[in-house]
Amino acid sequence: MNIQVYMHPSFNTWKYIIKRPIKDISILTDSVTPIINNVKKYGDLALKTYTKKYDNFNLKYIQVTEEDINKANIKISNCLKKSIEIAYKNIKFFHQKQIHEESKIEVLPGIICWRKSVPIEKVGFYIPGGSAPLLSTVLMLGIPGKLAGCENIILCSPPNKNGEIHPSILYTAKYIGITQIYKIGGAQAIAAMAYGTESIPSVYKIFGPGNSYVTIAKQIVSQNGIVAIDIPAGPSEIVILADNTANPEYVASDLLSQSEHDMESYILLVTINESWWIEKVKSELKKQLINLSYRKNIMKKAFEKSKIIVFDSLEEGINLINEIAPEHLIINCNNAIYWSNKIKNAGSIFLGNYSPISIGDYATGPNHVLPTYGYAKSYSGVSVDSFIKKITFQKISKKGLRNLSKCVDVLSSEEGLIAHKKSINIRLKK
Ligand code: NAD
Repeated sequence: MNIQVYMHPSFNTWKYIIKRPIKDISILTDSVTPIINNVKKYGDLALKTYTKKYDNFNLKYIQVTEEDINKANIKISNCLKKSIEIAYKNIKFFHQKQIHEESKIEVLPGIICWRKSVPIEKVGFYIPGGSAPLLSTVLMLGIPGKLAGCENIILCSPPNKNGEIHPSILYTAKYIGITQIYKIGGAQAIAAMAYGTESIPSVYKIFGPGNSYVTIAKQIVSQNGIVAIDIPAGPSEIVILADNTANPEYVASDLLSQSEHDMESYILLVTINESWWIEKVKSELKKQLINLSYRKNIMKKAFEKSKIIVFDSLEEGINLINEIAPEHLIINCNNAIYWSNKIKNAGSIFLGNYSPISIGDYATGPNHVLPTYGYAKSYSGVSVDSFIKKITFQKISKKGLRNLSKCVDVLSSEEGLIAHKKSINIRLKK
């Protein structure tokens, strides 16, 4: 593995060093736009054509039958079922605490205002299945969606070579209470959920991570004003900030764990350590990769664009990380909490030698659907809030109206909106 090492890079070189290794946006847009347009125009026929092209299967039926969902139950082990149950409990426990009822506020005598959370009625989940069946993502979307009270939840995931969705995805979906499942992946699934087809109903908001094609498709349909999306959650990202308390074996294992998601995974190590420590990380990467043969090619490709950046101080490292706004950040330093308080931009932060991202990917409780591409500067990961809208209510008495009439009279006159002030005055005349 030939990882590029940057020694004490100056500030003006940072933006080149931290650039993400993603495909050119215009090339992606060019390949995804016709897929979206054809699904919009030809519906199920286009879905079947793209499934043949990209997933290599001649799909007869798009929706997974109840029988198939029930069969999944016998295809997976009790041990897996138990693990799903444990992860479910922790994720539910963590997300449940995000639900707060807001109280009614008497802003002035006679003016009472409040907000009510209302679940989004129709939501669609994209569950990646291209290179790994991400059953954990079913938990990460399904649990907050159900807690929020969403009534209609549909799920799309690409079929495997046999034209099936992995039984662990089907089992987990049913465990949560989602049974409207479609064997469609990629940009075509996103277009179907946005515009609807003969088989797949359109939804109001699309959730879920995916590769670059999926992520661009989500952004295109949301820009067209058709549907909302959760966040741009593309290829996985890991940044580690390490000082001499970080165990190089663990650091290497964390870098490898995120590299197995995608060839486009973003992998960066920021450190103040000496060259012997960096060499130890590199030799650990080689050593540990030997035993990871199944996804070795994906990992090797991802590492081609990985980087190690060496600074004199952790402060410089923190400044660089705030520019990157990584999806996942591990702060593996002495006094990790102190350094984490200086982070302004990151999706999820893991602290110390015993907090690998992998445990959070599955079962600690927080959500693993997180913003990538630097969107952590302005977006949070998925939570119960992502599934609700907040409607405001206002109840005003005649006394309340009188209390504010002068103020609104002046403000609306200034804006030249005379009908506004008249609608208040007409009520106070009587
Ligand atoms: P996927 O389901 O996202 O993509 C597979 C689909 O991509 C296929 O069904 C196909 O339709 C489409 N596709 C493939 N090649 C194409 C091409 N040339 N043109 C158009 N469409 C094409 O599965 P995946 O590929 O395994 O990717 C999963 C992704 O999800 C990874 O990048 C992983 O890092 C990411 N992920 C992100 C988060 C997050 O929160 N940010 C969480 C989990 C996973």
